[in-house]
Amino acid sequence: MAIDPVCKMEVDEMTAQFKTEYEGKTYYFCAPGCKKSFDREPDKYLTE
Ligand SMILES: [Zn+2]
Repeated sequence: MAIDPVCKMEVDEMTAQFKTEYEGKTYYFCAPGCKKSFDREPDKYLTE
């Protein structure tokens, strides 16, 4: 399972409908709204 970086929900990579590539990595999202938020400000969600 991948973790949606926006809301921290688990997302199944095999069935994920919303994903985006950023700096060579693929991120998965539970919903189009999460993808949109990430696409707008990816760095905000990548501070571990
Ligand atoms: Zn989400």
